[in-house]
Amino acid sequence: VAPELASAFRQELANASSVLIGTHLNPDGDALGSALAMSMYLDSIGVENEVICHHPAPRNLRFLPKVQSVLQEPTRESYDLGIVLDLDSLERLGRTEPYFARCKRLVVIDHHIPHTAPGDLRIVDTSAAATAVILTQLLIELKAVISPEMATSLLTGIVTDTGSFRFRNTTPEALALSAFLLEHGGSITQISEEVFQSKTLSSVKLLGHTLEVMRLACDNKIAWSALSAGDFEMAHAEDEDTEGFVNEMLFVTSVQIAALMREPKPGKIRCSLRSRGDFDVAEVARYFGGGGHRNAAGCTLEMPLEEAEARLVERLKICLASC
Ligand code: 5GP
Ligand code: MN
Ligand code: MN
Repeated sequence: VAPELASAFRQELANASSVLIGTHLNPDGDALGSALAMSMYLDSIGVENEVICHHPAPRNLRFLPKVQSVLQEPTRESYDLGIVLDLDSLERLGRTEPYFARCKRLVVIDHHIPHTAPGDLRIVDTSAAATAVILTQLLIELKAVISPEMATSLLTGIVTDTGSFRFRNTTPEALALSAFLLEHGGSITQISEEVFQSKTLSSVKLLGHTLEVMRLACDNKIAWSALSAGDFEMAHAEDEDTEGFVNEMLFVTSVQIAALMREPKPGKIRCSLRSRGDFDVAEVARYFGGGGHRNAAGCTLEMPLEEAEARLVERLKICLASC
């Protein structure tokens, strides 16, 4: 983060007496970790702030410091400054969008490609592994005191967005800043246990079913699985219980592109897409009005599950052939 951006950010804060912090719906570790770290930083310098999100925190992120303070509706009519983090487009604010539209000024801190969210101040680095990477750099530039709680929140963002330092966005910078956050009291043990090793029994059973009904095409290069509303009911599971399932399919040697389609509620099909190497599933997601990164993307299809499955697999085949 350039020093000029940091001082511009400092200026935005100096002009604001109330700040509203937001992030994308279906918040992940980077979204909530970054939003909460920002909130803790503002607390530490005495700037009044609130964090809002369209959805509540998923179960595996409820350990994050200060997470119980995340609201779904703000308490004030309006705020001087809005700060949105890990947000590629304002649409992904969901129900919270109007509150940010009413802020006098808007700061955007993000790392997505493409990035379309407008803002009065944009601290955007599409080469950063996570928004938490950018925020850590910004906080260092601002000479912030980084508490163990802030360090854990930021580290959660880096760990989750790099797939525990396995994805190609695991840059020297991401690792160096992670070391810095460990030095400041971030707990990698807590993150590992809470984020990855706290599955419900229903979730593990639903994973078994997902893999059992998994389908393959194109010499086993494409794998997908579809979970109906009935599957969820039978397993007593919710959508958040499917976190990580799509990666399990991509773990098969031959599989280059994996998709998990699910219908937690009838008529709305959520799709998670993953790929290896140059196969660009973000393009597939965008075709259906979604988005994401080359190797991890998502979209929502409003049609019956069977139809969604047919249409998505057709595009996945085109994606496979294009490389
Ligand atoms: P997931 O499969 O974990 O829900 O999403 C993977 C990635 O795809 C997320 O990091 C997010 O950036 C992106 N993504 C998922 N769903 C959507 C969507 O509906 N719209 C957009 N723009 N991006 C999405
Ligand atoms: Mn995110
Ligand atoms: Mn992110």
